[in-house]
Amino acid sequence: MEKMQKKILFPRDAIKKRVEELAGRISADYKDRELIVIGILKGAFVFMADLIRAFSIPCRIDFVRVASYGAGTESSGRVVLTKDIETSIKGRDILIVEDIVDTGLTLAYLVNWLKERNPQSLKVCAFLDKRKRRKVAFEADYVGFTIDDGFVVGYGLDFNEQSRFLPEVYIIDQQQVDKK
Ligand code: 5GP
Repeated sequence: MEKMQKKILFPRDAIKKRVEELAGRISADYKDRELIVIGILKGAFVFMADLIRAFSIPCRIDFVRVASYGAGTESSGRVVLTKDIETSIKGRDILIVEDIVDTGLTLAYLVNWLKERNPQSLKVCAFLDKRKRRKVAFEADYVGFTIDDGFVVGYGLDFNEQSRFLPEVYIIDQQQVDKK
């Protein structure tokens, strides 16, 4: 396996602190309500696991999986749902949890898809946000960290299925991304 050149962007303690802050805000916003948290597979599973364990409110969980087809690391706009939720969300409070928002295409699609099922409310929590790279207008309600352009891995995020297990977030050398 090729050795990846990467440098640390967010160490474990910074991630832990920020996740706890987000969990605190979400717990306060949904106090006395019954939240259903929907994670987007695969990337969001690590963040979601830490986030819900830092909640001071109960929640239920479910997952969706989406495939986004495009060249290299860029999504094309053709987003396809490959695994749907298994919970009824009609009249419920929903929080979508995503690893990273880039062009915004995945979340714009997913929010529309889920809104058709008439939840009472629907908000989005993204661990990372590459705000400057949007192709469609999309704002997450809760954001862990806003980052500049660059390809990141670790804490659930992969590069060709590698590096999801790393507890820190790393930025990888762009030349390696371009080579793929
Ligand atoms: P969007 O539809 O917003 O362009 O793309 C969101 C998806 O693209 C994320 O869920 C993630 O799978 C992927 N993505 C975007 N930027 C990065 C990145 O820097 N690193 C990794 N590992 N995935 C990314």
